Amino acid sequence: MGHEYGHKTDLSRQSYERGKKVLIEGVNSPSRGDAFYKPYPIYIAKGEKGRLLDVDGNSYLDLMLGFSVNVLGYSHPKVVEVVSEVIKGGNHYASATEIEIVVAEKIKKMVPSIDKVRFFNTGTEATMMAVRLARAYTGKKWILKFEGQYHGWYDGLLANCHSRPIDSLGTKMDPVKIVEGSGIPEEHVENLVICPWNDLETFENKIKNHGSNIAAVITEPIMANQGAILPLPNYLENVQKICKENGILFILDEVVTGFRYLNGSYQKMAGLDPDITTFGKAFGLGFATSVVGGKEDIMQQMQWGKALSYGTLNAARLPLEVANIGIDVMTADNCEGYKFIYDIGEYLRSNAQKVFDEQGIPAIAQGLGPMFQFYFTEKRSINDVREYAQFVDIKKYQEFSRRLISKGLYVTVSNGLHQCSCLQHTHEDFQEAVGIIEETVKEMKKENLL
Ligand code: PMP
Repeated sequence: MGHEYGHKTDLSRQSYERGKKVLIEGVNSPSRGDAFYKPYPIYIAKGEKGRLLDVDGNSYLDLMLGFSVNVLGYSHPKVVEVVSEVIKGGNHYASATEIEIVVAEKIKKMVPSIDKVRFFNTGTEATMMAVRLARAYTGKKWILKFEGQYHGWYDGLLANCHSRPIDSLGTKMDPVKIVEGSGIPEEHVENLVICPWNDLETFENKIKNHGSNIAAVITEPIMANQGAILPLPNYLENVQKICKENGILFILDEVVTGFRYLNGSYQKMAGLDPDITTFGKAFGLGFATSVVGGKEDIMQQMQWGKALSYGTLNAARLPLEVANIGIDVMTADNCEGYKFIYDIGEYLRSNAQKVFDEQGIPAIAQGLGPMFQFYFTEKRSINDVREYAQFVDIKKYQEFSRRLISKGLYVTVSNGLHQCSCLQHTHEDFQEAVGIIEETVKEMKKENLL
């Protein structure tokens, strides 16, 4: 017992047994629980730089980084310093503070599409507010969301987020609307139009048929919830253009990509100009804060509580002081931090691909810079959730990820999530990671598992 992962994890198993008595699955989100981490989750005791230590004393090089929030890595000295100082004055007053202005000014400077911002606590709250703002501003009800994209667990956006067998999805032009999970009345997603991603023709048709009722189109710039699926060339630019031509707001959900890409956002790197943007995850570096930003007249819909957006904990001091330091660290020396995580991510992705190719394994390491995922597939790229559902062998990935973890490389165990790089990873770390990947591929090949 206690070796289910191939290394010693007795204390994790004991924590799981104890945790299950008071917590569902022994954890606090299904993505951390025993549905993914079989037969039980590994309990983490500590993070340091780019590594994690579990309760059994195993050390891992971490590519999961708290579902991508820890873009500075763990216990960055500047974060430790600011947290220690700020907390002496208390965390939150729910009254006006200067730090809100300071961080808002920095966001506005970094993200040209944004005139004004409001802070919330989670990505879910941010996307929920973005949708409400779009409806308030346009007076229209419908929202177009793309298949396979996840924007948080707000009822109104919880349809067609996960991958499913292809024959349950309906046609591309007429996807079956599938509510995610129980407890959500069908009418809560009644105003959603579902559309496949990376398929401009179908999108144009949807807009032709329903455009006059659609308040907004919401999309992630990189699909982060089926691994790391990149937009085809000019796809997002064309979606944005069609939105603008049809009086539809273009919402870019940068909860995953924000404060991670060159100059801080995917939109800045790609030259996009969304009407509303959401940020979370890497913005708060693991502290609960998120952002809705957008054009002046749209954001004004919130004035005097017209489009309601309360929140006792909005803009708490500690998370915003941390976010502020995060921006300073990553943008120092002409955004050297963002360049570093981009380059080191590309190094790992391209070298993993080399390993697959040299070993003759049909697999791809797909992504861009600081986010990427491994797909066991005969395809040379995966472009949407339908391809993911049909052509990606997630069972192989599950075995692969489990073996990587047992050898000290902490990857996401879900093929639908992705790996990330952080500022405190080093080139030596990533050479080590490539070595572990190579050893694992060879081992699984020998056992005829790939
Ligand atoms: N948008 C995207 C693109 C996400 O990936 C997520 C979370 N994975 C969210 C929104 C929701 O963020 P949170 O979990 O902070 O509520």
